[in-house]
Amino acid sequence: MNKQILSNLKDYLSESRNILITTHRGPDGDAMGSSLALYQLLVAQGHKVSVVVPNDYAAFLHWLPCDDIVVEYEKETAKAQELIKAASIIFCLDFNDLKRTDMMAADLDAAEAKMVMIDHHQEPTDFADYTISVPTACSTAQLIYEFAEGMDWKHLMTKDIAACIYTGLVTDTGSFRFSSVEAKTHRIASELIDLGLQHAEIHAKLFDNNKASRLQLLGYCLSEKLEVLPEYHTAIMSLSTEELERFNFVKGDTEGFVNYALSIKGVIFTAFFIQHKDMVKISFRSKNNFRANEVSKAHFNGGGHINAAGGAFEGSLEDAISKFKNNLNSYEKELLIEAAKS
Ligand code: 5GP
Ligand code: MN
Repeated sequence: MNKQILSNLKDYLSESRNILITTHRGPDGDAMGSSLALYQLLVAQGHKVSVVVPNDYAAFLHWLPCDDIVVEYEKETAKAQELIKAASIIFCLDFNDLKRTDMMAADLDAAEAKMVMIDHHQEPTDFADYTISVPTACSTAQLIYEFAEGMDWKHLMTKDIAACIYTGLVTDTGSFRFSSVEAKTHRIASELIDLGLQHAEIHAKLFDNNKASRLQLLGYCLSEKLEVLPEYHTAIMSLSTEELERFNFVKGDTEGFVNYALSIKGVIFTAFFIQHKDMVKISFRSKNNFRANEVSKAHFNGGGHINAAGGAFEGSLEDAISKFKNNLNSYEKELLIEAAKS
């Protein structure tokens, strides 16, 4: 990590400050784990700290330590705006562009606070005063751990902070399986366990809290909605609002569904289309060197990582799927065939 940035921040944080931590819309395990870990590290040093997120997140994350202090901009806009205005430094975690905070972006842009980005997405935009961007890192949570090391805060680590960091590591690496995992990721996990972290308990909290209706929705999706396109090494799935309602969908229920199709032999690219009120949200996953984020950026107003990206389409579900299929044929076929060989 950049020594100059660490040294400037050490100086700045040597006095008690009013600090805001924020993250991207639709916060995931890495976004929430990183934010709440940093929150606790800063509170332990006597700062006044708040965590403001654009909107709500999945139920399976609400057990995280200090979850009760999180302010949702969408629900408590006036309070969130006050906190943004009052902050003298804002930590932007797990996103590379203010746009990713959606309805919060204008307020963050107008804020007079110093901005610090800590993130692992490619091609960071230049909005922060201090940018700590490591696209090879498996998660922002790993960067928070390294940031804490660099700031000489390791003695402040607790079991609760460990639980937050571990959640980010686990959820952004498919439980330590993606190629982004490094030896150091496991070394960090082992140090977290040394702090008393109960890893089995955390895995159970994250993954063994399904409602029957969520599993039924997954079953329906896999048996009725999975379409394999072998000539493109691609598989797609989709859900309409009517189908979501039939299974009493709540936010977070479809998290991870897109990965199932990627376990089909020969498939290296998957897309999962979910119809929302005013748009279709799309999740992409890929293997090898096939760049899912390029597809999303070029055609679906999105982006993300090479192997995990997302985007959106304004129009019907059917039109989103046809656009995707036409693109496969027009732009991506050769790349997919090439990437499937590696
Ligand atoms: P998910 O499929 O889990 O929603 O998103 C996977 C990854 O894609 C996220 O970690 C994020 O990096 C990226 N992503 C998802 N949605 C969007 C989007 O609308 N715009 C951009 N730029 N990236 C996205
Ligand atoms: Mn992340």
